[in-house]
Amino acid sequence: MHGDEVSGFYVLEKLVSLLPEKFSGTLTIIPSANPLGLIHRQRFVPLDEEDLNRGFPPPPKARGVSAAYKHTLIQLGHAHDFIIDLHTFVLPCLEAGLFLPQSSEKNTALVKRFLQALDPETVFSMDIKREEQREASALGVYMIAQGKPFVAIEYPPVRQINEEFIALLADNLFHALSSLSSGNASSCTPSKEIHLFERQQVISQSTGLFVPTRKLRDEIKINDVIGCMIDSVSLAREEIHSPYQGTLTEIADRQLWRFGEKLATVGKRIA
Ligand SMILES: [Zn+2]
Repeated sequence: MHGDEVSGFYVLEKLVSLLPEKFSGTLTIIPSANPLGLIHRQRFVPLDEEDLNRGFPPPPKARGVSAAYKHTLIQLGHAHDFIIDLHTFVLPCLEAGLFLPQSSEKNTALVKRFLQALDPETVFSMDIKREEQREASALGVYMIAQGKPFVAIEYPPVRQINEEFIALLADNLFHALSSLSSGNASSCTPSKEIHLFERQQVISQSTGLFVPTRKLRDEIKINDVIGCMIDSVSLAREEIHSPYQGTLTEIADRQLWRFGEKLATVGKRIA
């Protein structure tokens, strides 16, 4: 849905090579829901600058190409029993599964089993009524309200992944898909528990050139320095402190970051 997020293509290419010739059920893969954004290397739909993963459901008689895309995605969602939405984070990060509250206990169990089999480096609990209200009009939230089990995966940016890592991500996805096969319901209950994190996002209060001083997986305490911002005019360095405690699951790399953009995520273990 976001045209500048391409890691999923590499994972899906690998995944297709792992699939057996015959399996029970139907798997539909939509490599890009936003092909115009993809060719322009931009997040939004170029013709109307819409975020394709917001504004679900589109209002009645909504016009434009994005409304048509959204209706198609909803129809596809209705035609399937389980929906997986692949995204790519902008900042270097750990692979993350996003766990949203589901509409029934049965769906919760399905999604939990999927995430256990996926075994990503982190699982974020998405409380769309509290911390994650920005996501409240996403496709997934709407499909969940329609009774569909839904899970999202955020991959690290493409500059951070090599062939080996892509193979691992594809393998994880293959295992997660296998967990959905009804024959595997009891036989492949993974022993691993999922560790849920809440996202605590460090937002930049200035514009400048960031220098990270901590790395992914580091344990951070409140007020720890996580990086510096170099002013593009004076070249003065200013320390960036974390207002949060937890595990560093996302941290900006050397680049110009603007006021209001995310610099890091500190995961707070909640379960
Ligand atoms: Zn995205």
